[in-house]
Amino acid sequence: MEPQPDTKDWTWTLRRRCPDCGLFAGEVPIEKIADRAEAAAAEWVQILTASAGVGLRPKPDVWSPLEYGVHVRDVYQLFDARLTLMLVEDHPTFENWDQNESAIAGEYAVQDPDRVAAELATAAESFVIRVRGLAEDQHERAGRRSDGADFTVITFCQYFLHDVVHHLWDVTGQVED
Ligand SMILES: [Zn+2]
Repeated sequence: MEPQPDTKDWTWTLRRRCPDCGLFAGEVPIEKIADRAEAAAAEWVQILTASAGVGLRPKPDVWSPLEYGVHVRDVYQLFDARLTLMLVEDHPTFENWDQNESAIAGEYAVQDPDRVAAELATAAESFVIRVRGLAEDQHERAGRRSDGADFTVITFCQYFLHDVVHHLWDVTGQVED
């Protein structure tokens, strides 16, 4: 059995505190996103490289830390590419990304955790450099998801941060303050 497809709309996490992971993404200033994205990536690398049961699912329908880690690697890569698009194009529409389909196609469960950790670190470094390099007049540049949800560079980065932090909660149960 595969985990439930993630078709829920998570944009509410920009407007209120997430009751699970504790993050209020909409209140994180853009100036803090890079540091927090970097810190979250370091935690993911730690989880992927230092936990013995990294490939084990806690329940048959719940992803293992490895599967979450591969997903988070993809999130860093995807958001880096989309952020780039927002900076070079005027109001681009992003292509749809079916998360469960890519989990199966990419065979998340059988990947080498050390390689995933290295790829995650590389993707995160690229994203963090791009966010640190944002000029103030780029903060309100826009992008649209294929479901019609509109983002600015700021809300896009906040949305991204919730995703990687929330999945840390999925794996570790740790709550943000
Ligand atoms: Zn959350």
